[in-house]
Amino acid sequence: MNRKKVKEKLQQNSYRLTNQRAAILEVMFDNKGKHLSAEEVLYYAKRKLPNIGIATVYRTLEKLAGMEILYKTMFEEGKYRYEISDDKEHQHHHIICLSCGRIAEIEEDLLCNLEEQLENRGFEVLDHELKFYGYCPECKKKV
Ligand SMILES: [Zn+2]
Ligand SMILES: [Zn+2]
Ligand SMILES: [Zn+2]
Repeated sequence: MNRKKVKEKLQQNSYRLTNQRAAILEVMFDNKGKHLSAEEVLYYAKRKLPNIGIATVYRTLEKLAGMEILYKTMFEEGKYRYEISDDKEHQHHHIICLSCGRIAEIEEDLLCNLEEQLENRGFEVLDHELKFYGYCPECKKKV
């Protein structure tokens, strides 16, 4: 999602971009393609605004995820990671390396056939979440 699209979404939701919120959004843009925890967002946001606190970071990330500006995915138990949403209708899939924790993305929507089947049965599919676990090419060499 680009800055223009984000601006539109914020306006649609009458969400005012305060300095703190803008700093958090900038961190997300700076780290496009990465999956950041709230603590990591706080770490980078503090470089821009030293007084920013974790509560503001949590609240803003949740709000932005609710507006579908960010994706949030739980990779570790009880802990969400956030990324700027791409403009696709459905969330992309992830593969997580069990050795180094690296998270790679799978761009294709692997679930199209299944979605079609479900829709034929009368369901309306809004989104999905699919994670694969294994070893990345680097770690595979070591095991
Ligand atoms: Zn899909
Ligand atoms: Zn690895
Ligand atoms: Zn991702």
